Amino acid sequence: RKYPSPAKKTPKTPAPKDKHVKPSSLVLTPPTQIRDPRRNEVYQRSGCLGEGGFARCFEVQDKLGQRYAVKVIAKSTLKSSKTKQKLYGEIKVHQSMDHPNIVGFQDCFEDEVNVYMILELCENRTLMEFLRRRKRLSESEARFYLLQILGALKYMHGRKVIHRDLKLGNIFLDADMNLKIGDFGLAALLVNDTERKKTICGTPNYIAPEVLFGNQDGHSFEVDLWSVGVILYAMLVGKPPFQSKDVKAIYKKIKENRYDFPEKIILSTESKSLITSLLSHNPEHRPTIDQISLHPFFQMGPMPRSIPVTALDMQPYFE
Ligand code: ADP
Repeated sequence: RKYPSPAKKTPKTPAPKDKHVKPSSLVLTPPTQIRDPRRNEVYQRSGCLGEGGFARCFEVQDKLGQRYAVKVIAKSTLKSSKTKQKLYGEIKVHQSMDHPNIVGFQDCFEDEVNVYMILELCENRTLMEFLRRRKRLSESEARFYLLQILGALKYMHGRKVIHRDLKLGNIFLDADMNLKIGDFGLAALLVNDTERKKTICGTPNYIAPEVLFGNQDGHSFEVDLWSVGVILYAMLVGKPPFQSKDVKAIYKKIKENRYDFPEKIILSTESKSLITSLLSHNPEHRPTIDQISLHPFFQMGPMPRSIPVTALDMQPYFE
């Protein structure tokens, strides 16, 4: 597997604000030398990359100077069996993935205090910070990223894995601005294609109606395509379609399938029609991954071969 080349410096945005208690306020900073006794590897830790719900992320280097991200989970936060199950599930699923648009999983081990996951380093943070800086992306950029998302999803779904928490903040960008889906904390591995899931999970803005209002049939792969619709809308409009002041209001809008395309933002009919079909209330009406890739949205304008790092600050021009 290829990883981004070392020593490339790119501008960083400040870490996203999080209303929850930060893990760092409850646990100690991990050691500067993190050892994997099984592989006889030592990772040299440097700066903090960010903090999530229950993990902290740092940049590390192995003995050969290869850079990675380490996700550190304090064992003291794994008291309940539910959080333990969530972590073991995440490790099991993520470890089994190997795709250029999925955050690479390198290694996993523990010491007395923490569980460590060594991951591919995504230097340019997530689509959330990218969008915060740029406000919104051009249709050409969205086409590029949508194709990368679909590649990763086809791979995942082909292996009977539903991600169930696709959102801007879980979609990382490497040094070359390629997209990498990460955070498999809510992923579900189905035993077969006909199995249906019943658990309510996901993030309010991105959650599919059949997950929220749990129909008897449960839910399946289509929940990820709903989230893709929300992500495509957010990339082009600058905010998710069902955004509201509180969670209850978001859920009401999702239930009623109530969203609109702001008039002041010029969008092609092709992008609107693709978003509309992805945001079909009935999961059976959503297009499949193969159908999406044949949608006119992919034919109506330039398809960039890559996105330059300068795109973080300024809309690039593509022929
Ligand atoms: P949690 O599962 O607790 O939400 P995350 O996986 O979201 O934790 O990680 C927390 C933060 O660490 C992220 O918001 C991001 O800024 C940073 N991060 C996570 N994974 C990587 C990675 N592979 N490369 C670079 N930064 C990362």
